[in-house]
Amino acid sequence: MAQQGTQQVINGTPVVQGMAYAPVMWVVRPSVPSAAGGPSLPEEERESEFAKYEEAAQQVSERLLKRSESTIGNASDVLKMSSQLATDRGIRKEIRKLVLKDGMHSVQAVVKATEKFVELFLKTGGLMAERVTDLRDVRDRVIAQLQGEPEPGIPVPETPSILFADDLAPADAAGLNPDVVIGLATELGGPTSHTAIIARQLGIPCIVAVRDLGRIPSGETVLLDGATGGITRNADPDEARRMVEEDRKWRETVAAWRGPAHTVDGHHVELLVNVQDGPSAQKAAYGEAEGIGLFRTELCFLDAQVEPTIAQQVDIYKPVFDAFQESKVVIRTLDAGSDKPIAYANMEEEENPALGVRGLRISGRNPELLQHQLDAIAEAAKDHVGKTWVMAPMVATLPEAAWFTEEVHKRGLTGGIMVEVPAVAVLAEKFLTVVDFVSIGTNDLTQYTMAADRLSSHLAEYTDPWQPGVLALIANTAAAGQKVGKPVGVCGEAAADPVLACVLVGMGVTSLSMAGSAVSTVGAQVSAVSLEQCRSAAEAVKAASDAKESRYLARQALGIVQ
Ligand code: PEP
Ligand code: MG
Repeated sequence: MAQQGTQQVINGTPVVQGMAYAPVMWVVRPSVPSAAGGPSLPEEERESEFAKYEEAAQQVSERLLKRSESTIGNASDVLKMSSQLATDRGIRKEIRKLVLKDGMHSVQAVVKATEKFVELFLKTGGLMAERVTDLRDVRDRVIAQLQGEPEPGIPVPETPSILFADDLAPADAAGLNPDVVIGLATELGGPTSHTAIIARQLGIPCIVAVRDLGRIPSGETVLLDGATGGITRNADPDEARRMVEEDRKWRETVAAWRGPAHTVDGHHVELLVNVQDGPSAQKAAYGEAEGIGLFRTELCFLDAQVEPTIAQQVDIYKPVFDAFQESKVVIRTLDAGSDKPIAYANMEEEENPALGVRGLRISGRNPELLQHQLDAIAEAAKDHVGKTWVMAPMVATLPEAAWFTEEVHKRGLTGGIMVEVPAVAVLAEKFLTVVDFVSIGTNDLTQYTMAADRLSSHLAEYTDPWQPGVLALIANTAAAGQKVGKPVGVCGEAAADPVLACVLVGMGVTSLSMAGSAVSTVGAQVSAVSLEQCRSAAEAVKAASDAKESRYLARQALGIVQ
């Protein structure tokens, strides 16, 4: 416990806004049996031992699938992925070998095979490394099934509690009940981890990557602030309850907010939505966004082994344009590579895929892919009444930017680029003279500026767009846009942070594109401040020496320090 009466704040990376004041409940993990030990199984028992494993894996998989069917949104998708992992062919093959050939007991074989795949996933890095928690979670479920024990999972508190964990597997996170789990904090995990994605969907205030979380025991009452990333021990109870009540009122304001967004002094801020296919665009069309700011086309082809024909691509893109028939749609050409490898587009193996042949660079090896995609986009957008803007990912040089824009112009469309590589942000003014618009991808811009893998759960404090170095590059780009008179949008996760959104507006960013679930929160926040305050916040963050100070200075300038 913290010394009686002494207030103490420990910090992590904030991912879902909101306040909670309640006792802590830790998720206790089952201990993992050793992979070694136990006499080798006699030959004649091996087949039946393996059959026991198959039966257990199948049951775990079916249970997870069933839960995915009674869950909605991202939570359902992640449960489905875990269900598939339980019966993954590669893992099954490894366990089969360990049991049938080496004579291992099924529990030990599951532990050993999981260890091997964990190592493999970590070595691959990126999205695969993020799935290590899922692998271990599935392992624990299969072992419990084999041992006839209850399925492990998170405790269900009887009274409202703040859940603490090392990290949450999707199956854990998806089962959270926001009525009793009113706050969430993890030692690991980054802004894009499953914990963050699901907490966002459930609206549970959440902080990840809290290094010192282990110092706070179960049962201690803490104040969790999902906006600043602070967990306060020994908070004054009256003050804490006042802050929670204020937060509750703020959430009501958010729920009632209707677009379009204007600051209190009437400055229009274009709020757009990020989508990945027709259904997500149709869903977003019911919301408050004015259009689409990022259509990630590569997400339509993650499983494709061969390049889809132009006609097939048209069928995929057209529903997105139809969903926002009269509105602006910004479509991005294939951002294949790194954490989103696509069989038909990427090189087989690269030492360092985030710095490799990804995004627009694929055109160097395979120019036809881009030409086909641009033709398909032009065809799909033929009857689109609103603006059609096409942008390229992972652009690094001026000739690339100029060439891409020309290719888009040839099809009668508006062409731009993403600002994800620091070289572009540094020379933003020059780039803006050869393109029609730019959109800042803060996820990659942060990764490349801070030299930190955006998916690493150990580097969340680096992969934070509030880092002063990242903010300076965004400010430089926005200022260049104002000078040249061309639009500068932001479509990375930074646009979904309501306070950072105000800073971006103050810097001169003209549009903000985000997940549909973030639009109302950002809209309500932007509508509660003046352009002048946004400009002061943009000015104030220049003095910050780290991400935490940037947040503090911005909130102070915006008058939202509680
Ligand atoms: C970004 O990098 O910020 C971005 C929007 O692109 P993606 O997240 O798809 O890499
Ligand atoms: Mg990117």
